[in-house]
Amino acid sequence: MANIVWHTKFRIHLDLTPDDLGHPEFPDLWETIYRMDRMYAARGVPVSERDLQCGGVCRQAGVEAWMHLRLRINGRREAVHEKAEDEQRHVLPMSDEHKAYQQRILRAAGEGGFPGDSEVRTRVGRSWIQTDTLIEGTDGRRIGWEVQLSSAGAEGPRSVRARAAKAEKNGITPAWHTDRADYAQRHDTQWTRSNNLPAHVIAKTGDLRVISGFRALDFWRCDIRALYPCPHGNGNGNGVRRCGKHHATPKPRDVLFDDLVRQTAAGTIVPVQFHTATKRQRFWVTSQDRDRLDELHNDDSQMPAVQQGESSGRASHNRPTCRPSVTITASTLPASRPAMSGGTHHTLVPAQPTAATSETNTPSAAPCAESSEPSSTPAQKDTGLPAELVALQRAADSERSRLESLDDNEERRRQRLEWYEAAAEVQEAVTQYAHDNHLNRFDVGQRLRQIVRTPPTTPQA
Ligand SMILES: [Zn+2]
Ligand SMILES: [Zn+2]
Repeated sequence: MANIVWHTKFRIHLDLTPDDLGHPEFPDLWETIYRMDRMYAARGVPVSERDLQCGGVCRQAGVEAWMHLRLRINGRREAVHEKAEDEQRHVLPMSDEHKAYQQRILRAAGEGGFPGDSEVRTRVGRSWIQTDTLIEGTDGRRIGWEVQLSSAGAEGPRSVRARAAKAEKNGITPAWHTDRADYAQRHDTQWTRSNNLPAHVIAKTGDLRVISGFRALDFWRCDIRALYPCPHGNGNGNGVRRCGKHHATPKPRDVLFDDLVRQTAAGTIVPVQFHTATKRQRFWVTSQDRDRLDELHNDDSQMPAVQQGESSGRASHNRPTCRPSVTITASTLPASRPAMSGGTHHTLVPAQPTAATSETNTPSAAPCAESSEPSSTPAQKDTGLPAELVALQRAADSERSRLESLDDNEERRRQRLEWYEAAAEVQEAVTQYAHDNHLNRFDVGQRLRQIVRTPPTTPQA
């Protein structure tokens, strides 16, 4: 059974839990669809031709799992998988490790001042994008974390590229994380990988290292002294041919998982595609490396510039700004930032944070003094936001905290929709307000949350 059905003809998701299936705009939707399904059944039409697919777990796994509908005596509406193997997909509960990762992502992001939530459905036209854990970063950046662990099955998730592309197209930067070497080498998205760890270790605050998927780009001139073979050369890596141009070579780098979460949200670690002579690789680099790579692609006759003071200039661009008018400032600071300046002597060295730097990343360690913050926007100079916005945000927050208090799956599902609706309302109001007042939407949203959540809520556990 599943509660989310994808109607292939109408191209909408149906949530069987609420009476209106999540579509108040279509009255009697359930009756219509159920009657149709019964008629098909009576006429012997195969389930695979009845327009209904599992729109939840199976669809996320990239599987077209056909379903039929069933109405229980107690009035409960159900969709049933045609094939038992598809049903099986739902039986596997989310592992403790997976949950621990979700919590870790939320906590790490929260410590950096980035709000987020797990199991988020983002409406996209008539369908949804389901995201394991969605983090809201700076400048409207949204990072969609998908965690795929050893328990997920040997052949791994299907349609990763399609799912990642759909997320990207709709403004969500996909971030897939695994503990399996085989997934990490697929390059169908920017996979990151940690060691296979038990849930209690993942949940702890100590170092959790990302051992693949993040790289530093080494920029070099292709001359006689070069260490690497010319990527355009036809030799077998003997480096005989030298073209005199400049190239980039990615080198594996460790990064702390928490820093990865925060820096992707801050936009200081970004996904790239990298083409070698034979294949396309996908991994994460610092935004500085990405910019230099772009520069190299435009003109490889010169070494891409290392901009002086780049880190500070860039930092101010992405930094969630300090707002003197708001009493609580700790959560507005990008806790990840100190780690980025670790390689001061050499800008090619990306974040290689030590345990010590990550310790300084706790919000309390970050003062927020300068009001001369260069990236200040009009929003932060203005102390008041409309009471209506504040009320909407309060309502959304309370829906969300109700969700946390529920244990029953059905209730949670219902409540999640409630919360989602309320959050969408806030988002819409914020967007409108920001637009009307020529403000940055992200800044307004961030500030609104600060106002409502003072004293600061602890990051989601
Ligand atoms: Zn299914
Ligand atoms: Zn060359």
